[in-house]
Amino acid sequence: MLGRIHSLESFGTVDGPGIRFVVFLQGCPLRCLYCHNPDTWDPKQTGKYLLSPEELLAEVLRYKSFIAKGGVTVTGGEPLLQPEFLLEFFSLCKENSIHTALDTSGAISSQAVYKVLDVVDLVLLDVKSIDADQHKKLTGVRIDNTLHCLNYLEEKNIPVWIRHVIVPGWTDDDLLLEKTADYLAPYRCIEKVELLPYHNMGVRKYEQLGMEYRLENTPPLSKERLENARNIFRNAGLRVS
Ligand code: SF4
Repeated sequence: MLGRIHSLESFGTVDGPGIRFVVFLQGCPLRCLYCHNPDTWDPKQTGKYLLSPEELLAEVLRYKSFIAKGGVTVTGGEPLLQPEFLLEFFSLCKENSIHTALDTSGAISSQAVYKVLDVVDLVLLDVKSIDADQHKKLTGVRIDNTLHCLNYLEEKNIPVWIRHVIVPGWTDDDLLLEKTADYLAPYRCIEKVELLPYHNMGVRKYEQLGMEYRLENTPPLSKERLENARNIFRNAGLRVS
């Protein structure tokens, strides 16, 4: 079994606790309007590396002392497009006492996916929009599976960090932010929420790929609006970073 790996980053600091070895898997069924990694979308491309779970683990172990207080994060793309590979890789990490985190949209629902969730230490769940219509427009897919995924994580008591991008003209809306915070607040599995300000630094990649960037006229989120969103989530009782 070989994993199609878009790229690797040995010293990640923003994808989970501590210093992390970050694995970007190739392929994604979503088409988020603000995606910075459209080059990860095509599931047929192999990416930079084609590795077995054992080969990837060997790469990780080269950095074991650096990531001792952090761990490994697998992101994408949508990593759950390759659940068998992930299950094997995470199980090997576990055997080697390496903390694992999975960054996912939760958009894929299957038995194989749930098996992966059962072995991972932390899920970074990307909630793109709590509004069903907006979610479809923003990502191209329905929100249902993401919400099922969150329910499963709650049922199994698997730690979750929510990630939510605040996009002007889309998710940057007080009523919607309140609705989102109120929806998430009762979940005991959610340890914290990371509110990420929209920025348009991904535009160049679209130009290089000859693709249209559909949020071209959307300005980056201001510091004031980010703080406003943070306050709304804090007021709902959520821990915000
Ligand atoms: S889920 Fe992630 S990789 Fe996929 S389109 Fe959205 S932002 Fe891009």
